[in-house]
Amino acid sequence: MQYEAVIGLEVHAQLLTQSKIFCSCSTQFGSEPNTQVCPVCLGMPGVLPVLNKKAVEYTIKTGLAMNCKIASYSRFARKNYFYPDLPKGYQISQYELPLCEEGYLEITVNNERRKIRIKRIHLEEDAGKNIHDPSGYSFVDFNRTGVPLMEIVSEPDIKTPAEAASYMKKLRTILRYLGVCDGNLEQGSLRCDANISIRPVGSKEFGVKTEIKNINSFRFVEKALEYEIKRQIRILTDGGKITQETRLWDSQTGTTQSMRSKEEAHDYRYFPEPDLVPVVVSKDFIERIKKDMPELPDKKIEKFIKQYNLPNYDAEILTEEKSIAEWFEEAVKLGGKPKEVSNWIMGELLRLLNEENKDITQCSVKPSQLVELIGLIEKGTINRNTAKEVFEEMYKTGKTAENIVKEKGLTQISDDAILIEAIKEVISKNPKEVERFKNGEEKLIGFFVGQVMKNTKGKANPKLVNELILKLLKDS
Ligand code: ADP
Ligand code: MG
Ligand code: ZN
Repeated sequence: MQYEAVIGLEVHAQLLTQSKIFCSCSTQFGSEPNTQVCPVCLGMPGVLPVLNKKAVEYTIKTGLAMNCKIASYSRFARKNYFYPDLPKGYQISQYELPLCEEGYLEITVNNERRKIRIKRIHLEEDAGKNIHDPSGYSFVDFNRTGVPLMEIVSEPDIKTPAEAASYMKKLRTILRYLGVCDGNLEQGSLRCDANISIRPVGSKEFGVKTEIKNINSFRFVEKALEYEIKRQIRILTDGGKITQETRLWDSQTGTTQSMRSKEEAHDYRYFPEPDLVPVVVSKDFIERIKKDMPELPDKKIEKFIKQYNLPNYDAEILTEEKSIAEWFEEAVKLGGKPKEVSNWIMGELLRLLNEENKDITQCSVKPSQLVELIGLIEKGTINRNTAKEVFEEMYKTGKTAENIVKEKGLTQISDDAILIEAIKEVISKNPKEVERFKNGEEKLIGFFVGQVMKNTKGKANPKLVNELILKLLKDS
């Protein structure tokens, strides 16, 4: 029996607002535990939440970028459960009326373009963080409670682990383009739960799914799903049944472990949040957000292929980060040939940045400097190998290519015409020396070379000068 996988992802993204969703506490990551808290986010009795308008704006912005319908009327709901990191005993979330619904985003895997539908995007508050100390004590940090969180739920349209990773990457790219989430997987700003089932190839019905929690890298999404597909196939092949359950990904062992079964699943007893009025979004508000949207990665990919004639591969890589795409476009605007600029970015520039784990915005080489360097190659001032050396030096010191070439004496005048002119001038200005040379004082060749080097500020190709002088002296 041949099986195929059915995958749907639920991605949580922390919003880059200054303050929390229902109070004015800071959302800054990495502060001392429990220093960014107040009675509201600590869930004290009697406090009232006030909705952060920016969080609504960011969610709508995301919905628009992902082709969703934006609800003119939506509502918050209480999701009730007990856990030490949830001081109120409920999470304010959205349930039957989310802000965004029925969108999609496109991914390209193995040259196949695929639309992955998005079921909904809703807004909620993050919970705190339990810290299990090696001492045996557990601590709770409430700095994270009330950080605005978007939950982006896909339809089960994803077919392979590679597509799942690609979907998550694309999602992250879009969120970063929009500036609504920093996409930092290690710090937990972007987290993914993967739902997966298998079914016989050709079957229309879905199988029983499991949900894998705790995935915090693109690689792990792929690995966890690959493991889970194999596990499920093994069970069905052995005549067993898949149990609907939540499983935890363990990156140490590369396996998933059962966390809780459907029977133990929470009954959240959702009901409309009585302390918040419904959210009414005006057309005007949506229009204003639309006007503020940056050019999105898919548009850029299209443009890079059509307008700049780049291969799809280059276009995908260059548009992964808005800052890289903009750096590229700036260089092209300044006269750099697109493919040439692309090669430099994908090769040397990204290699050097990756070595230091740096962002292109922290890069000391500016687009204009690369264009200048490319110009030096095109003019034949330096060859490609030298250019790489110059580029690395530019990257390290921030100096211009020309200065580096000068300082390091990398420029060579190898143009015969220029050199011949310079030599002729030296010959005509030094008739006595020419005479002596012709009378057998061959060591005078050094004098002539020296004069030419002096007149060309040391840039002449000495070997060529030597050859040319001998020839010209004989002819003169
Ligand atoms: P639940 O109520 O269990 O959370 P949802 O319908 O909200 O289920 O779906 C949660 C996620 O699981 C979505 O991303 C959805 O695409 C995915 N999903 C739903 N059914 C399946 C299935 N049979 N196999 C794989 N993924 C599924
Ligand atoms: Mg769910
Ligand atoms: Zn607070």
